[in-house]
Amino acid sequence: MDVYGLIGNPVEHSLSPPMHEAAYEELGLDARYVTFEPAPDAAGEAITGASALGVRGLNVTIPFKRDVLEHVETDDLAARIGAVNTIDFASAEGEPGDDGGSGPNPEAPRPRGYNTDAAGVRRAFAHHDVTLSEAEAVVVGAGGAGRAVAFALADAGASVHVANRTAERAEALAEEVPGATGGGLETLAARVPEADVLVNATSVGMESDETPVDAELLSEDLAVLDAVYSPIETRLLREADAAGARTIDGAWMLLFQGVEALEIWTGEDAPVEAMNRALRAELAEDE
Ligand code: NAP
Repeated sequence: MDVYGLIGNPVEHSLSPPMHEAAYEELGLDARYVTFEPAPDAAGEAITGASALGVRGLNVTIPFKRDVLEHVETDDLAARIGAVNTIDFASAEGEPGDDGGSGPNPEAPRPRGYNTDAAGVRRAFAHHDVTLSEAEAVVVGAGGAGRAVAFALADAGASVHVANRTAERAEALAEEVPGATGGGLETLAARVPEADVLVNATSVGMESDETPVDAELLSEDLAVLDAVYSPIETRLLREADAAGARTIDGAWMLLFQGVEALEIWTGEDAPVEAMNRALRAELAEDE
């Protein structure tokens, strides 16, 4: 049996196990997806331990997404984002990983680290027939999700404006993303009406019925993705829908980051429909 899993702290409310196990069932794979909760300072030990136990792949969530960078071979996109959410141990297979049994071999290949949140954004838009190439995109938020979204959109050919409550953070991110601009939330008033694509990558809307973008800035010319997936229908999406915009909820991003991870691990095309059904059933139970 192949073991995959998630490291995070906490992980008890993770939606990933049912989503991945639905895929294993659909693909006829003898595999399980398990959640692990290492101590917050134990990312390295967790990866070494998982590798020793033959775990084939791990997703990584808060607070470990940055910490694992130094323990894996990071792919280019994950390095630019500065965070890893998927580790593939197959890349380190086939090597003894020791020096004859007395200790670890520093030359042994390390597992590969990816950031599939970025692919999740790109594939969520593609699934909804939204073209990112040459689109004007506004990203609200410059935290972990904001970084993944900004790089994903820029790599897909969009020109990106990042707006964040802490303007300096948006400006710093914009300096790293090719062609991007950045500023405070007050820049939304000028940028959103000109945009084709809007992404909320803040946590606003998660705990209360708030939105980071004024409803009067929204129009039918926009495609709006909210990274927040709990609740599934945020105030931003409600107001975007009322304005005639195309809306994409955060479960799509979550789904496609999982789809991408599964495809990296197994080399098979993911059964997107089955994974989507399982994810939405779990979300409905939580709501
Ligand atoms: P994070 O690194 O902590 O960043 C939080 C972001 O939200 C920052 O930009 C922060 O601005 C902003 N923010 C927080 N409270 C705010 C407020 N009251 N007003 C305005 N801005 C505020 O968190 P994260 O990991 O990026 O996650 C952000 C959201 O994305 C969460 O809801 C998370 O669940 C979601 N997410 C979804 C997916 C998915 O697959 N759908 C994947 C990853 C994350 P400052 O910089 O000014 O603090």
